[in-house]
Amino acid sequence: MDLIVTSTSEQRNAIETDARAKSHLCWTCGTCDNECPVNLATSRLSPRKIVRLASFGLLDELLRMPEIWYCLTCQRCVEVCPNGVQPAEVIRFIREESLRRQIVKWDMLLDYEKLFGRFQRVRLHATIRSMNGKLDTVSDEQWYGWLDAPVEPPGTEITPRTSSERKVYFRQVTGTNITLCLTCSECTNCCPVFYERSVFDPQATIRMVNLGLTEELLLSPSIWLCIGCGRCSNACTQTVKGREIIARLRRMAIDGGWVNSRLPYRLKDAEKLIYPRLLDEIDACLGVSSGRTLSSDIG
Ligand code: SF4
Ligand code: SF4
Ligand code: SF4
Repeated sequence: MDLIVTSTSEQRNAIETDARAKSHLCWTCGTCDNECPVNLATSRLSPRKIVRLASFGLLDELLRMPEIWYCLTCQRCVEVCPNGVQPAEVIRFIREESLRRQIVKWDMLLDYEKLFGRFQRVRLHATIRSMNGKLDTVSDEQWYGWLDAPVEPPGTEITPRTSSERKVYFRQVTGTNITLCLTCSECTNCCPVFYERSVFDPQATIRMVNLGLTEELLLSPSIWLCIGCGRCSNACTQTVKGREIIARLRRMAIDGGWVNSRLPYRLKDAEKLIYPRLLDEIDACLGVSSGRTLSSDIG
C-alpha cells in the first residue's frame, strides 16, 4: 500500500511559529523516546515521531493521533534533548489546536482531566504496594477500585516538631529556601498530578517540611507521585523550589533506609502495569477508532 503524505510549507511554518518548539532542529536521535516515561512503560508514545511529523508540517496527522493525549506533561523530553527541541511544546500546541477545531470537545476534555486526576489514586495505591514489595499484577477489580474510590486522609492528628528538631531537617533539605513559603498554593494550582490532597499536594509537602514533619514524608508514598515537571518551582513567587525539595526528600528516604533502595525500580515496573491501562481508558474517553485515530471530523 502506498503511503500518501500531504503537507504544505504553510502548515510546517504554522506549527514552527505557533508551537515555538524548534522542531526543525531535531536530528531524530531518539533521546526523548528513551526518557519518556509513558513510552518506556508502553511503547505507545514517541515524542521523536511527534516532532518529526511537526517538522514535516503534517498537522492533520498530528491532530488525529491519540498519542497527543497520552503525554503526562512531565517535560523530560525537553530536558534531555541535546538540540533544544521541545517535544512537549508540540504536544501542547496540537492539544490546543484539537480543542479549537473541536476534534476533542470540551466535555471530552473534562472527562479526560478527571480520568487523569483519578489515575493519581491508582499511582498512590501502586506506590504503596511497591513500597512493600514488587507489584506483579493489577486485577480489574483493583484497577477500578483504585480509580474510583477517593483516598481517605490520614485519620491521626500530627503534632508539629519543636524548633530544634525542625532545624535538623532544614539542614538536611539543603539548597532550598523552603521557609519562605507563604502557603499561597500556587504550586498546587499548577501541579499536573494534584487531584486530591490526600493523594498528593506539593503545598502540603512543603508545609510539612516547615513544620518539621520530615519523617512522615520520608515514609509517605506521596513524595513518589511527583513527575518532576518543575512547574511548582517556576511558579513560586517566593522562589521555593518544590521539585528540588521533593527530589531531595526521595534521596533522603533511600539514603536513610526509610524505603527500600529498589523502590525506584519497582515503581518503573509498576508503571508497566498501570500506564497501558491508563492509555486504554484515554482511548475510550476520546472515542479513538479501531484505526487508532481520533474519530471526529477535522475542520
Ligand atoms: S531528543 Fe531532540 S533531537 Fe533527539 S529525537 Fe528527540 S527531539 Fe529530536
Ligand atoms: S512531556 Fe510527554 S512526551 Fe515528553 S517525556 Fe513527558 S510524557 Fe513523554
Ligand atoms: S515538579 Fe512540582 S508541579 Fe511538577 S509534579 Fe512535582 S510537585 Fe507537581
